[in-house]
Amino acid sequence: MASESTVLVIMTGGTICMKPSEAGLVPAKGFLEDGMAPRPSFNDGTEPRVLETSTETGASVSLRSLRTPVSRYQRHIRYAVLEFEQLLDSSSIDAQGWSQIARAIANNYTAFNAFVVLHGTDSLAYTASALSFMLVNLNKPVVFTGSQAPIFELQTDATDNLLDALILASHFDIPEVCICFQHKLFRGNRCTKVSSNQFDAFASPNLPPLATVTSSHVQVDWDMVRRPVSHDKSQTHALNVQMNLDTTHVACLRVFPGMKPEMIDAVLRVPSLRGLVLETFGAGNAPGGPDNALINIFTDAVRRGIVIVNVTQCLTGSVSPLYAPAMVLGRAGIVPGHDLTTEAALTKLSYLLALPDLTSEEVTRRMAVDLRGELTDSGDVSFAGPG
Ligand code: ASP
Repeated sequence: MASESTVLVIMTGGTICMKPSEAGLVPAKGFLEDGMAPRPSFNDGTEPRVLETSTETGASVSLRSLRTPVSRYQRHIRYAVLEFEQLLDSSSIDAQGWSQIARAIANNYTAFNAFVVLHGTDSLAYTASALSFMLVNLNKPVVFTGSQAPIFELQTDATDNLLDALILASHFDIPEVCICFQHKLFRGNRCTKVSSNQFDAFASPNLPPLATVTSSHVQVDWDMVRRPVSHDKSQTHALNVQMNLDTTHVACLRVFPGMKPEMIDAVLRVPSLRGLVLETFGAGNAPGGPDNALINIFTDAVRRGIVIVNVTQCLTGSVSPLYAPAMVLGRAGIVPGHDLTTEAALTKLSYLLALPDLTSEEVTRRMAVDLRGELTDSGDVSFAGPG
């Protein structure tokens, strides 16, 4: 007899559920009825069942659930779709939206085997990175997906992405926040959106996929899968959620040839700014500015308690103390972001700044340390810290 696994699908919006309107494509409600129920791969035609769920506000809600046909692994997936009150184009999501997703997962954590989050692709890499930091001790799969074309179109990637996400979340014990796109499962905080129109829209430039779906099987790289670790063996891993990331006191700047030091200084003097992600050239190099003006500006900002993280503009590779300009940034107290993506750096910084009572020195120290598999730790400590 085939078994059954339960998945809560959390619908936040995005192209996957969009329909045309006079103002262009907009998210539409009723995804289970209109998008999934009519498709045989999402509905085996058996009597729908009601599942008791909680909304992100904690209100109880009975949702109609459907079941997929049996998989190659002799399992059905029973799922319900929890739609957010306000569906978003993901370009409008913020830290409040991330907390809403985290709450929806936490409120239904024990009732479901896994979670699939449907989200627009534009800010998907930011949201997945943010959730990877927010969901501490995560012990169940949380798989984000979306699509480049709505599920209602004939030529769409939505059905493949959604089915892969459901299968991966419900059949494989990968307790991480992931992004599933174009038959690959990536660690969420390693991803970046690399195409605005191709179906192959996401890449994980510095880490191979955790799993790949082919016509014959699912290949999981189990050695790479992370699990919560407890230093106290008597402790069980309870999910712990850090809400409200501090995105309002951080900024992100991309350096370019001829950039005026005053411009960077103006950003660093935005009232109550606490952190800056600096996208530098190559292995972490920035222009020094005339008479080292830029370096002095950075040194001064670090002294004022602003945490500055150095990430590379390159898609692959890492910030490293190879060239003099990168060494100078390190000596100014700028923390090397190793191979962090900008998305991971920004959300990690926002997460650390939201933790109570951390000094800027402690935030700086933790930025360079791997927390959720977001960076390949080079073990190089000589680069960090003021000289
Ligand atoms: N603008 C859309 C969004 O991010 C794009 C997409 O979903 O692919 O919500």
